[in-house]
Amino acid sequence: MIPQPFIQDLLHRVDIVDVVDRYVKLKRAGANFVACCPFHSEKSPSFTVSQTKQFYHCFGCGAHGTAVGFLMEYSGLGFIDAVKDLAQGVGMTVPEEARSEHLQRRASEGENLHEVLLTAAHYFRAQLKESSRAIEYLKRRGLSGEVAKRFGIGYAPEGWQNLAAAFPDYNAKALVAAGLVKQNEEGRRYDLFRDRIMFPIVDVRGNVIGFGGRVLDSGEPKYLNSPETAVFEKGRELYGLYQARRAVRDAGRVLVVEGYMDVVALAQHDVGYAVAALGTATSGIHVQKLLRQVDEVVFCFDGDAAGRRAAWRALEVSLGELVDGKQVRFLFLPQGEDPDTYVRAHGKEGFESVVSAAVPLSQFLLDELSSRTDVRTPEGRAKLLQAAKPLVKQISAPLLSLLVRKVLAERAGLSQAELDAEFKIKPAASAPAPRPMAAPMRRGRNASYIRPIIELLVMQPSLAVLANRAAIAAASGLRGVDEGELTALDRLLEALESNPDIRNVSEYFRDTELRPVFEELEAGLITREEADAGIDVQKQVFADGWAKLVQELARAEGHALDEKSRNEPLTPAEKTRYRVIHQLLGLKTADSAEARIKI
Ligand SMILES: [Zn+2]
Repeated sequence: MIPQPFIQDLLHRVDIVDVVDRYVKLKRAGANFVACCPFHSEKSPSFTVSQTKQFYHCFGCGAHGTAVGFLMEYSGLGFIDAVKDLAQGVGMTVPEEARSEHLQRRASEGENLHEVLLTAAHYFRAQLKESSRAIEYLKRRGLSGEVAKRFGIGYAPEGWQNLAAAFPDYNAKALVAAGLVKQNEEGRRYDLFRDRIMFPIVDVRGNVIGFGGRVLDSGEPKYLNSPETAVFEKGRELYGLYQARRAVRDAGRVLVVEGYMDVVALAQHDVGYAVAALGTATSGIHVQKLLRQVDEVVFCFDGDAAGRRAAWRALEVSLGELVDGKQVRFLFLPQGEDPDTYVRAHGKEGFESVVSAAVPLSQFLLDELSSRTDVRTPEGRAKLLQAAKPLVKQISAPLLSLLVRKVLAERAGLSQAELDAEFKIKPAASAPAPRPMAAPMRRGRNASYIRPIIELLVMQPSLAVLANRAAIAAASGLRGVDEGELTALDRLLEALESNPDIRNVSEYFRDTELRPVFEELEAGLITREEADAGIDVQKQVFADGWAKLVQELARAEGHALDEKSRNEPLTPAEKTRYRVIHQLLGLKTADSAEARIKI
């Protein structure tokens, strides 16, 4: 897609410290910068940013990446958008021609769609001013002009082809692609939204990506959303998140409600941290997106049966996204109320007091399950455990999982050990698994000659000129040679042949299976002093290391040939190789082997 040399060049020009610091205040700590991790909840900073190596690593949760990765994780941008964003900041233009034709078309269509949707949004807003009926409706709902403006609320008038007035060509493909216009079987086109209050849906960057339309009085459906398009994916987007960002940060919580009218009504009453899913159930992606930005997510549902069912679905998709130290809670409004009616009747304070009393996810989980069976009988308790097992096993927050299992064991009349055995949960899994620690420790355990070489290359890719890739080609499959490390080294050298200027190795291998390997290597280097040694020292260390590596690989190959010769004659090429190796290692050939191989 975007050529690697461009990305690596970009990584040379941006400074990750500036990029991260824009969102998370960094403090200097020795050679690095640190902060409390934005991706998991913690009290003391384990999120580390290296300016010299231009990547971040969290020793708490393992989050790792470059400036590109940070933007993607933190703002929820896609790869291309993150690259574009960074490039813009340093005055670089992402090369268009380098993208595949398909992607290029999609991207330019996407840009085009944003423009089309924005034009439509302007048109709907202008129409609102013209319609006293629509204005009257909003007033009746208690909305001020200021809030209507903040959310860009508009009005799609009655009639079938109003948008023809907003666009020069009503037959343009983009109007259908943007989900604004439909075409019937006879090829006749018509506006999708007619006589509806229009709520623009805006992505995290502020682009209009679709609309929600609500009928004014009666009519079906009550709510109509844009179809999914190249720029609008319902399971990812949340209505109001863009407008709510500031309030979410200030409040330290986000409220997920069911409809956009709820979001707007709450904002009208100064509860600005509400968002809504868009005509779909809450997805795991939604939860993940929200938990990254804030420590507390409160789902708000009507107190009726449908509300409880929707809440249960939200609970199910949340389990795998939970993070210790962050919380997900559930608020059930009294029967017949929704946030809109409730906040209008009780005001901000009244509403926030019920929000504060929302039930934690663990309690909702346990109470709901217990209420479905009679826990006074062994049969009922067995049923409870059976229902709980698949859910509890999904909980991604180790401490919370532990506490939930404790309570569950109590209710079922088991010890926690018995419950864990029943759920096939290993005791070790109850504590956060320590991340594989930095390289020095591992090196002591496993005398790899390959790993230090890769580490040096990761720190200083220009050292690759001192290596000879051919020298390691024959080592694959030899006993005592770590195949994973050998592959990583070979692929890295190969990459450096065509791109000698790689700034960050894990970014280069982003879409490959080698990415975690290099991320782990980089993580081990982030706090190592010698990583910042001068180039002359590094050259010397590398040259020595490489010589050692070649020797060790030759030794392994020699052993393999030795062994083979015990069972079958070596080919002439193998014999030559055997001789070379022995010279290289300065060994005296063992008599027996010499006899067999007939050197
Ligand atoms: Zn972290």
